[in-house]
Amino acid sequence: MDKLSIKDLDLKGQRVFVRVDFNVPIKDGRVDDDTRIRAAVPTIEYARERGARVILASHLGRPKGARVDKYSLRPVADHLSNLLGQPVAFAEDCVGEAVKSKVDALVDGDVLLLENLRFHPEEEKNDEAFAKELAGLCDLYVNDAFGAAHRAHASTAGITKHVRQAGAGLLMEKELDYLGRVINNPEHPFVAILGGAKVSDKIAVINALIARRVDKILIGGAMAYTFFKAEGFTVGKSLVEVDKLETAREIKKSAEAAGVELLLPTDHQVVDSYDPLNSRKTIPIEFTNAGLVGLDIGAETVAHFSQALQDARTVIWNGPMGVFEEKGFEEGTVGIAHAVAEAADRGATVIVGGGDSVAAVTQAGVADRITHISTGGGATLEFLAGDELPGVAALNDKK
Ligand code: AMP
Repeated sequence: MDKLSIKDLDLKGQRVFVRVDFNVPIKDGRVDDDTRIRAAVPTIEYARERGARVILASHLGRPKGARVDKYSLRPVADHLSNLLGQPVAFAEDCVGEAVKSKVDALVDGDVLLLENLRFHPEEEKNDEAFAKELAGLCDLYVNDAFGAAHRAHASTAGITKHVRQAGAGLLMEKELDYLGRVINNPEHPFVAILGGAKVSDKIAVINALIARRVDKILIGGAMAYTFFKAEGFTVGKSLVEVDKLETAREIKKSAEAAGVELLLPTDHQVVDSYDPLNSRKTIPIEFTNAGLVGLDIGAETVAHFSQALQDARTVIWNGPMGVFEEKGFEEGTVGIAHAVAEAADRGATVIVGGGDSVAAVTQAGVADRITHISTGGGATLEFLAGDELPGVAALNDKK
């Protein structure tokens, strides 16, 4: 990596502002899923062990620039304290005099979590004065929030101009390392599996993958219906982006021209739109009639896609194969979770990104067999599409 790393910084006795991604689900005032908090622990421990005074900052949810109690990070401070086995102080705000006093009270090895950055509208506006105020709390800056690195906000971009040094945290480094290797130097056969609701979110990634000579792209989820409709198939009432039919045709053409195999489902689980609760069945794609809605890939497609992964050496997966959060429509996504885990068992580098696919590998009980589970959704896609992430660009270059 050509950016400074936390390992390049002299942390002893320094006030270190660590931008983390603690955007976790909170239920009844408790952390419901702590994956993202755990992912930041190595950086926090690393800084503490070297005598840093650690100031943690994050966003949580979309409070839209106002204080909203349900988006308070306070429950995260308690949770983190349990994970670290040491107290984590909490500041009721992220800027202001009271926060400064809390920072002044820190001794080497202490950890302080600031309140939600997005309680201030200036955060998402990348406001210069606000960024400067955040920077005023610290000597050094570390960005470990890969999941927020595709946004140029005060805490991910602006702040870096006002600190002595700005480097990447251990999680950020790991993400850039794995994703960078996949995009720059993949071992072939290289297979990408894409799903989810929209083609529009993934056009840039698909084009970048084709340009980088991915060998196969497997498409599931609602995205597939835009491709089917573009080919003139009947998709019934399945979700389609009607303004992306031409895009789908262009993608198909450029895949063909580049010798990239584009695989679509051959069967799917459908329901009748007039009786959705009692009509679930699996049918071949070409049997779809006007009243049906496709909500998951079928078993035959899972088998085809699994077969396409047999000799894969690199696999990336982003996006569910169906409405997997609803009971009865999770089988396709869970099937693919098992298939990618088996590819990893055969020695392939397997990267899973995006909230839903990550949830699926966890639900399928195969998370520990995956080479790298990316904590980013949008950031992972933008990085794979070849875009420079503002939160990475803002860090200091290695000399
Ligand atoms: P995305 O944010 O684009 O990755 O899309 C994720 C969403 O796509 C999930 O909430 C799924 O429920 C949804 N999805 C996947 N397949 C389908 C489908 N066949 N019909 C409707 N929604 C779908």
